[in-house]
Amino acid sequence: GHSLAVFTSGGDAQGMNPAVRAIVRMGIYLGCKVYFIHEGYQGLVDGGNSIRQATWASVSGILDDGGTIIGSARCKEFRERPGRLRAAKNLIDHGINNIVCIGGDGSLTGANLFRKEWENLLAELVDTKQVTSENAEKYKNLNIVGLVGSIDNDFCGTDMTIGADSALHRVMEAIDCITTTASSHQRCFVLEVMGRHCGYLALVTALSADADWVFIPESPPEPGWEDQLCKKLKNTREMGQRLNIVVIAEGATDSEGRPIKCDDVRALIATRLKYDTRVTILGHVQRGGCPSAFDRVLGTRMGTEAVLALMEATPTSQPVVIALSGNQTVRVPLMHCVEKTTAVAQAMADKRFKEAQDLRGRS
Ligand code: ATP
Repeated sequence: GHSLAVFTSGGDAQGMNPAVRAIVRMGIYLGCKVYFIHEGYQGLVDGGNSIRQATWASVSGILDDGGTIIGSARCKEFRERPGRLRAAKNLIDHGINNIVCIGGDGSLTGANLFRKEWENLLAELVDTKQVTSENAEKYKNLNIVGLVGSIDNDFCGTDMTIGADSALHRVMEAIDCITTTASSHQRCFVLEVMGRHCGYLALVTALSADADWVFIPESPPEPGWEDQLCKKLKNTREMGQRLNIVVIAEGATDSEGRPIKCDDVRALIATRLKYDTRVTILGHVQRGGCPSAFDRVLGTRMGTEAVLALMEATPTSQPVVIALSGNQTVRVPLMHCVEKTTAVAQAMADKRFKEAQDLRGRS
């Protein structure tokens, strides 16, 4: 039978456990030996006790747990070739050449690189007598499938990443608590939500919480936004609204690329409008708590599909990411997604740079 291993890498996200559970159980169901690699790439580089066989029971009762029971980490060594060489040896020592990587774009970029280098790493391991040529022949193909676990929903190629929906639930719960107290006192709330360079969480939050204003990295506000913002808040107050909400994505900037920060926006509103204005930065609360029904099902569907994709892989097939497209789980080339995600980030940086140049040219 086949052997496959699963690990979680980068920042954790709710719904990783449902995915791990589905991978273990689908793998066992199909007659595979399934392994956990603990602590992400660190466990892969360390080997030994970090790579342990999973059983049907080892994933009991985790469907409703946030985080990841097999641990996640950032790992410097895996970024360098010697680290990846050790990782390759550890996999072969355990008889594993099928892996599922659950992580963000960094983790999946690393997986893609590892797969590209595999043949070369094997050759070095044989040359240095760390691996027999028999084993090198037996494990000459490394099959990799990626699942995107990230609360940011910042990955090109999938409509939703595992964890984004749960993070929205956390944000909504927090806002619902804030709004009851805020409207009693006629307050203005400035709220920062996570998402790094992706405004998805902030945008959906703003729509669902009936916010007055939202700042997202994809669409920096026009110069003069300070006046517009105050005008808007004032109008809604005058129409009888007792509460104002301004949502800021953590990566939001103005059109010159300067970060838009909660405290500055608070000071602006408090100074100009004299509203009682408070800042809430939700932070890691957004990663916490149990996965939503959507993420439990998404993780389960993606995990199951990942195992099928590994079992169906041929020597010539490229690594894939399991993605959600509409209502379907589909397989998309890993390389394509990683490149596109990087390109989008670059295009946004270029756009900000150009806008900043234009503005300077005008003034
Ligand atoms: P998050 O979205 O939470 O940041 P991520 O997967 O993008 O998750 P990173 O810290 O970028 O998080 O990457 C996690 C790990 O993946 C790194 O610590 C490193 O071990 C590995 N990794 C990332 N990029 C590369 C790369 N270019 N080459 C090799 N390994 C990499």
